[in-house]
Amino acid sequence: MDPVSDRTRLRREPERGSHDSAVIRAVIDAAPICHLGYVDRDGRPVVIPTIHARVGDTLYVHGSVASRTLRRLAEGIDVCVTITNLDGIVLARSAFWSSMNYRSVMIFGTAREVTDPAEIDLALDAIVEHTVPGRGAELRRSTPAELRQTKVLAVPIDEASAKIRAGDPNDDPADLDSPVWAGVVPLALRPGEPIPVAGLDPSIGPSPSVEALIADLR
Ligand SMILES: Cc1cc2nc3c(=O)[nH]c(=O)nc-3n(C[C@H](O)[C@H](O)[C@H](O)COP(=O)(O)OP(=O)(O)OC[C@H]3O[C@@H](n4cnc5c(N)ncnc54)[C@H](O)[C@@H]3O)c2cc1C
Repeated sequence: MDPVSDRTRLRREPERGSHDSAVIRAVIDAAPICHLGYVDRDGRPVVIPTIHARVGDTLYVHGSVASRTLRRLAEGIDVCVTITNLDGIVLARSAFWSSMNYRSVMIFGTAREVTDPAEIDLALDAIVEHTVPGRGAELRRSTPAELRQTKVLAVPIDEASAKIRAGDPNDDPADLDSPVWAGVVPLALRPGEPIPVAGLDPSIGPSPSVEALIADLR
């Protein structure tokens, strides 16, 4: 990973920032989705949410070959990927000092369309593994026809920053005697009870990967 670039130098609250690749990797891996920001052919900005996976210092995204976003990014234009994990609502004794706890990453770069079949397999397996670890081994492989309908892009994670806020609100000292409750309400993604697809043979229960996903997130 490159050292800090002009684009990735944190100006506001730089003490919350990090360019450490282990920190950046952990934030990316913890988030179920990312957002891809780019400028469309008409010059207008677009930000689109999508699933991602990280392999080493490469971020993979995938989608339909018809995806406007993936086709535009495959032209090699600039992309900014943002990744956000929301950890809590920070309730100060005033609105001004209220905030959120989070772990986020921003990646700047250009995407490369993946055409090597082995790398496509690697990326698609990583995306399934990122979403539900172990699920790939329980499913059939994608067919050649399915793969022909799928586009995979790779974004190098070499110009990136993380920003992390944790802990209490930073109240204005003048508010410390205020009678209002202040603190943090933690937030986390939690699974509900799995809902079998309509018509599923009732003798088929959740597979080990689904059981593990539920146990892991609870
Ligand atoms: C869930 C959430 C809620 C937030 N709510 C607010 C809010 O309400 N108001 C507010 O002002 N800010 C909020 N932030 C922080 C916000 O993301 C910016 O960090 C902050 O506003 C400074 O913006 P800036 O354009 O001045 O960044 P600068 O410090 O100028 O950005 C320079 C560079 O620092 C890095 N950087 C900046 N922010 C981030 C980040 N979040 N993650 C990773 N790298 C980063 C990037 O490389 C960026 O190009 C929130 C962040 C998160 C994740």
